Amino acid sequence: MRVFPAQIDFQRPIVIIGFGSIGKGSLPLILRHIRAPRSEMVVISPDDSCRQLAELEGVRFEKIALRPDNYRSVLTPLIAGGFVVNLSVDVSSVALIGLCRELDALYIDTCIEPWAGGYVDAGIPLAQRTNYALREQVRAIRGAGPTAVVAHGANPGMVSHLFKRALVRLAADMGHTVAPTTREGWANLSMEMGVKGMHIAERDTQWADIPKQADEFVNTWSIEGFLSEGLQPAELGWGTHEKHVPPEAIFHETGCRAAIYLTRPGAGTRVHSWTPNAGPIQGYLITHNEAISIADYLTVEKDGKAIYRPTVHYAYHPCDDTILSLHELQGRNMRRQSRVRLMNDEIVDGMDELGVLLYGHPKNAFWYGSQLTVHQARAIAPYQNATGLQVTSAVVAGMIWAIENPRRGVVDSDELDHDRILSIQEPYLGRLVGAYTDWTPLDNRGQGLFPEDIDLDDPWQFKNVIVR
Ligand code: NAD
Repeated sequence: MRVFPAQIDFQRPIVIIGFGSIGKGSLPLILRHIRAPRSEMVVISPDDSCRQLAELEGVRFEKIALRPDNYRSVLTPLIAGGFVVNLSVDVSSVALIGLCRELDALYIDTCIEPWAGGYVDAGIPLAQRTNYALREQVRAIRGAGPTAVVAHGANPGMVSHLFKRALVRLAADMGHTVAPTTREGWANLSMEMGVKGMHIAERDTQWADIPKQADEFVNTWSIEGFLSEGLQPAELGWGTHEKHVPPEAIFHETGCRAAIYLTRPGAGTRVHSWTPNAGPIQGYLITHNEAISIADYLTVEKDGKAIYRPTVHYAYHPCDDTILSLHELQGRNMRRQSRVRLMNDEIVDGMDELGVLLYGHPKNAFWYGSQLTVHQARAIAPYQNATGLQVTSAVVAGMIWAIENPRRGVVDSDELDHDRILSIQEPYLGRLVGAYTDWTPLDNRGQGLFPEDIDLDDPWQFKNVIVR
């Protein structure tokens, strides 16, 4: 029998906002790991189709859509001194964190969300619709206060702990025993190990016995969430080893300046990557908070100038039916399908393989991450598939860390204690696997290619990674 870590006490209100794939999956884990009064637990969501899942557990359900004009009046009586768990789409993280700071409530989310329309409003300049801009808005409210853990799901989230484990392992395999405890320590270690960059490399192989239908978008997690981020500009942490600036790249004038964005949507931008089970893959360079936060965290500066930073970005190969959905979407010039389906009970088999690929160092490339099958996920927690459990276990681990560290203000995932988080999450992650590979983005690319599209001197240039 699997042993789960002990519970923690939190004798205060817990308010969960959003009850979709991640909210539904998180609730049983919160109840399993956090001892809190159920009479003071509330789920808030405009869609009450799963109301009974909360009510069966003795948790109140409020059918409400939070908006800029009502969130204060709805939440103020509920959250004072408590914990706000934001697992919604279309509810502003910045607004909620501000209210939590006023009311001394802890906060966690899995993505920095704007209010509805914020990602795709053509009236808002492209630069303001980037995750870079959203992260800068959150950084502007840092400082002493109740802990607000920002963007702590699987990715963004868990991958920030995986890259630290991977760096320590890589260092050990190169003969160094290290245990950095500061941001500077991790950044220097990454520089000393010669890591040029990092892919958040994910291959989801889950498949269902209902094939994707025409005019239908299918996915293993929020379709709304995926389409929103897929239609944002592609973004990546921009490494100091890069020699070729992509023609569609835009640099930011303000903020941490660790990242760039491309004037094209992530859902239309493919990149070469690698995972141990799948081998070479073409994933989508979907914008994600971790691409910016990890690149920022691992920057080494001298005299105010970045002398080292890895390139960091997501390389997401979703499940095959989602690939078909994306292909259809691209054919329609990104006009959305009229129907959506979140795959869950109909999934027959498959795994979500999600980890970090540290590349460009003397041992070429090292992937470290979670290989979790849908069967393992179902055996250990209700209402979710493999993709969901990697996220929901990170939510509950982040909550426990916040309860143990209640006065840390606004924190990125990179600032949490990675060993503590992974100790809580590990029972939910299937196999945690480390694997070296001699694969590079130039693998088998000699034939029939246009030489001007590649840099033969350095396989790990982003120019070789992006699919032209
Ligand atoms: P979902 O679409 O399945 O559910 C979203 C929920 O938000 C629904 O219950 C919906 O009714 C609710 N909602 C919509 N508008 C609302 C409003 N105005 N007020 C209150 N609730 C509202 O999405 P999901 O898959 O559960 O994802 C939830 C969030 O988690 C998204 O922000 C998504 O991007 C993020 N996510 C993060 C990760 C990660 O690894 N970091 C992974 C998956 C999802």
